[in-house]
Amino acid sequence: MIKEGNINVSTENIFPIIKQFLYSDHEIFLRELVSNAVDATQKMKTLSSIGEMKTNLDKLKVEVILDKDAKTLTIRDNGIGMDADEVDKYINQIAFSGAEEFVNKYKDEDAKNSIIGHFGLGFYSAFMVAKEVEIISKSQKPKSTPVRWVCDGSPNFTMEETTKKTKGTDIILHIADDSLEFLENQRISGILTKYCKFLPIPVKFGMNTNQIDDPSGEKDENDKVKQISEEVENIINNPTPAWTKSPADLSNEDYTSFYRELYPMEFEDPLFQIHLNVDYPFNLTGILYFPKLKNNVEVQKNKINLYSNQVFITDNVENIVPEFLTLLHGVIDSPDIPLNVSRSYLQADGNVKKISSHITKKVADKLASMFKKDRKDFEKKWDDVKVFIEYGMLTDDKFYDKAEKFAMYKTTASAYHTFEEYFEKVKETQKNKDGKTILLYTTNPKEQHSFVKRATDKGYEVLDFEGPLVSHLMSKLESKHADVQFSRVDADTIDKLIQKDEEQPSILSAEQIESLKPMIEGEVDKGKLVVQVESMSPTDSPMIITQSEFMRRMKEQQMTGGGGMQMFGSLPDTYNLVVNGNHPLVSKILEEKDDAARSGLIKQTVDLALLAQGLLKGEDLTDFVSRSVEMIK
Ligand code: ADP
Repeated sequence: MIKEGNINVSTENIFPIIKQFLYSDHEIFLRELVSNAVDATQKMKTLSSIGEMKTNLDKLKVEVILDKDAKTLTIRDNGIGMDADEVDKYINQIAFSGAEEFVNKYKDEDAKNSIIGHFGLGFYSAFMVAKEVEIISKSQKPKSTPVRWVCDGSPNFTMEETTKKTKGTDIILHIADDSLEFLENQRISGILTKYCKFLPIPVKFGMNTNQIDDPSGEKDENDKVKQISEEVENIINNPTPAWTKSPADLSNEDYTSFYRELYPMEFEDPLFQIHLNVDYPFNLTGILYFPKLKNNVEVQKNKINLYSNQVFITDNVENIVPEFLTLLHGVIDSPDIPLNVSRSYLQADGNVKKISSHITKKVADKLASMFKKDRKDFEKKWDDVKVFIEYGMLTDDKFYDKAEKFAMYKTTASAYHTFEEYFEKVKETQKNKDGKTILLYTTNPKEQHSFVKRATDKGYEVLDFEGPLVSHLMSKLESKHADVQFSRVDADTIDKLIQKDEEQPSILSAEQIESLKPMIEGEVDKGKLVVQVESMSPTDSPMIITQSEFMRRMKEQQMTGGGGMQMFGSLPDTYNLVVNGNHPLVSKILEEKDDAARSGLIKQTVDLALLAQGLLKGEDLTDFVSRSVEMIK
């Protein structure tokens, strides 16, 4: 016996507390222990690089060994190891006090909210799942005596000499009865795949050979954990994931195949990627992929994985990268992101802020350079990335300033312009009598076809503004450019939308208009359609349905507001029925003396207008069809 004693803690027994506090994240014990094991092997590399020691670095590895009979899980490394003094210092004193500090800090807070699932509890997390933990270690120092440390979760431990031949450390967990799930093959391999997939040295997972093939039936008492049999061991990680390599050494195929490795369930290839590589003023590497975005933005979030030195931390990068970037996929690896703190702390952390704005800048720069280098190609990709870019422009002013130069605006003629280019093009032709340039747009070129045609026939350019964010984007653009105003093509008659000085004279007299209005109002649902008589061109439609830009936009923004990104839901309720007083058909309605015939004419004309807007549905549509059949019979 080298030593027997009390661990350096003031709290009576911290283990029940550790266990109780971390109930939801017990599985991270394995990440912590495997990380320690990897660190121990990395220290061998350091020692060898400074000439302190000669060793075969190729053989460095970590093994995770499951023994169901003995109810143990062992984490074995051939790293730097510890002698008795080091176990005493690092395990009995330093590490325990760290764990105690952690427990004290979080004791009083609401466990669920404050324990965030990733924190540096380290070695002690072993006690979340083990009733007893053994450390069997031999230091790499010449002639050092191997040591065995045992602790049952009370502050008492024992430490004695043992007979380990090879340098390195075995951490043996005697799994507690309430944690038997951690003796399941599937469970352990699942945890390893989640957290250890990209650790920098090979991690093997296997079962004790005793359970596979042990003809002698004899157990070696001194060597509790058998060597893993070659047939069943398997390396669970890729020690050199793409983000750790130099971009110069990677082809597009390499990036895509790494994407597959990250998201085996994703069947569409990414559009392109950005390789991040920063070493000053903080350390950050990673690859961000641009996926093809679908309209439902919400479901595509949380695909970025955060790593610290190749150890998986979380796939919830909220507050670490700007919200719009969470639509990207990929990996960010930074040892500079503090992991053992709560989210509110993260938000305030200076490093996190810097990292966040740096990533934003990199993404904007990459897009800008793609735009410059090959505009045609950029235009091809635009429809797939526009939701992402528009989202960024709306939520991040710095990004807006950069994106302004490459954000594309597509017209119904499928031409792509930057805002500046488009504005230059329509500035004069679409200027109204008050000096404002009216930017016409459609949110659905098919459904609003007749209105788009009315505008393009006049020589105007209509923007194809589809997508969940456009109404927010328009407000933003209007606030930045005082001399422009957006109007959907069906917000009014085209002459009213872009009102010039010259006015179309009215064929009807004031009295005729007075008597026309109630005639039409009598045939429509006044709650839904507001009738107004206008003097339009005689060649234009006799009646059209419009909807005020202002009212519709208010409704849309309300529906997509509050950060929610759902698609527009139900249609707004009221529309204008604009009657073209100059149309011959309207004169005919006025002159018609037979009540039934006049009613039929009005109904038919109103229905045609509703039809052009895609608003004629249900029973009204059925009536319209039978009425039309009667008329042509
Ligand atoms: P941290 O890893 O954050 O320092 P831990 O509680 O996990 O805290 O570990 C405390 C210390 O114990 C480590 O810093 C290291 O010096 C030592 N240690 C833990 N595991 C091993 C191991 N497998 N091999 C060598 N040393 C180890």
